[in-house]
Amino acid sequence: MRSTHRAPAAAVTLFCLSVLALCLLLPVRAAAAEVALRIGVLAFLGSEAAVKEWSPVLRRLESALPDHAPTLVQLDHDGLREAIRRGELEFIITNPGHYIELEAEFGASRILTLDAGGGRSPERALAATVVVPAASPLQSLADLHGHRLAIVGRSGFGGFQLLWGELDALGLSPDKDFAALHEVGFPMNGVIDALDAGVADAGVIRSCLLESRPDWQARFRVLSPRTEPGFPCATSTRIYPDWPLAALRHTPPELSRAVAIALLGMTRPDDGLAWAVPADYQAVHELFRRLEIGPYAYLRAPTLMALAERYWPWVGGFALLIIGWIVYTVRVEHLVQARTAALREALAAREALEVRMRGAQEQADHLSRLSVLGELSGTLAHELNQPLAAVTNYANSLVRRADHHRLTEAAVREAAAEIAGQAERAAGILGRIRAFARKRTASREPASPHELVEEAVALFRGMLAQAPAVTVEDALPPTARVEVDRLQIQQVLLNLLKNAWDASRTLPPARQHIAIAIEHTGGSLQIRVRDHGCGLDEHARSRLFEPFFTTKDDGLGLGLSICRSIAEAHGGRLSAETPADGPGALFVLSLPEDGLMDGAPAPHPDTTAPQPARTPP
Ligand code: ADP
Repeated sequence: MRSTHRAPAAAVTLFCLSVLALCLLLPVRAAAAEVALRIGVLAFLGSEAAVKEWSPVLRRLESALPDHAPTLVQLDHDGLREAIRRGELEFIITNPGHYIELEAEFGASRILTLDAGGGRSPERALAATVVVPAASPLQSLADLHGHRLAIVGRSGFGGFQLLWGELDALGLSPDKDFAALHEVGFPMNGVIDALDAGVADAGVIRSCLLESRPDWQARFRVLSPRTEPGFPCATSTRIYPDWPLAALRHTPPELSRAVAIALLGMTRPDDGLAWAVPADYQAVHELFRRLEIGPYAYLRAPTLMALAERYWPWVGGFALLIIGWIVYTVRVEHLVQARTAALREALAAREALEVRMRGAQEQADHLSRLSVLGELSGTLAHELNQPLAAVTNYANSLVRRADHHRLTEAAVREAAAEIAGQAERAAGILGRIRAFARKRTASREPASPHELVEEAVALFRGMLAQAPAVTVEDALPPTARVEVDRLQIQQVLLNLLKNAWDASRTLPPARQHIAIAIEHTGGSLQIRVRDHGCGLDEHARSRLFEPFFTTKDDGLGLGLSICRSIAEAHGGRLSAETPADGPGALFVLSLPEDGLMDGAPAPHPDTTAPQPARTPP
């Protein structure tokens, strides 16, 4: 009874466990069935050859993992990269060089390495062979210099990069040392076609390809064949690991594991090819690092040193230019310094000379003024005699009045006032002469042209007992000013007046009249001194302003030359003209109008005549 009860219970438990297991397993199987198994293969011999070569892999996977519907996609380098980027592949089979690029770029991770067999281990299976036509004179890789080379493409591993490593070791650059690099593209047979067509002198193919084609073997020879122990084919390069099969980042690990297990079960006798556990691809990394390609292309990033090495003629030229520029700049700087020092010295010397010249000029001016005074001082006594005689007369008159008891207060006052007036007149004459004769340094100040002329005329008149009539006609406004050295301009005017008097003193009084006109003409102030004397003959006119030219017995001949230098020092000039309206001479002193204040012309005739001494009361 107990056993009859127990049996249905066990059956129920078993049934429940089976249902649970089914429930747990079903989603896994369903999920697994959803994951595709797409293998991208690099079709280096063309897609047809690739299908043929890799079909055992496909068959194996189809039988081991039918739910994943395995597919093989034949692609070239770029196609493979693009398919990975679009997430269209779960696995890739490619050459080792391409693999380490995809490893760095997409995180591809090898799970198997091809075991090519035939004496080759997975670690030592790939090499490149340089073939030349049997009759070619080329013997070694070094002989390739300057020749034409056919390659699959620069990205071909066995078809180019392995050889590039050897050329690099020999110091040959594919870019510079070959007459031409013919890139024939996939399939690799194109390399042989290029040799046949005579467009290349040598061609690079994957090792063992030559041995697999007896027709090629007879027609071609291997360049620099190496003796590699245990390697069954002729090779011109070192030997590298075989092609890997790699899973991609998104490939589920259990699928990778299932694929690895399935493919490791393949055997060469049964399937035509076999796989081994992943090989070490360090040698490939080292090759790429040395060539600075693939994941190591960043090493080619132009460093200053690399740029300098590459463009050394330009860099050298540029450096020479810079050095030249520096030398030029330093030289120019040196010359500028030297020239500046020389200029500074010259300026200092010129300044010193100017100071000396100014001193000499002042000395000459002073002497000239003394000379004018000396010439006029003969008559000065007469002029002073007048006020002194008047003073004496007034004093005597007072004494006489006192003697006759006629001295009134009014008479005393009048006489005293006259005496004081005459004394002032004499003091004025002496004061002007002292001021004119004193030694002093030149100084400029704004001065009224009219006042300048009046002062000179007063000085002139004060020194002559019987000075001629001098008229002054001023066409300038009373506000007019000119920036001059007062004393120097007075000196010029006094000199002109003295010369005018010298030229007319022996002539009748009508010819002794001197006319001075002050005008503003042609942008300058002009003081015109016109006399009616003997005038200037041709000889005198041509030498008038020369130092020491004189026609007078007691003359020095310095007056006019000093006057001209004074005019020029003021930025003006002194000239002699022949008057159009009669005999005599006309001297014109022109001064620049700077500082001259323009206004309405205000002619202001002023006739001055010597004042006769008044008789005492
Ligand atoms: P100096 O009066 O000592 O001779 P100047 O240089 O003043 O020296 O004059 C030079 C010469 O110019 C005079 O000797 C004279 O022959 C001539 N001269 C100057 N002014 C007149 C004038 N107004 N009329 C005629 N000749 C003049």
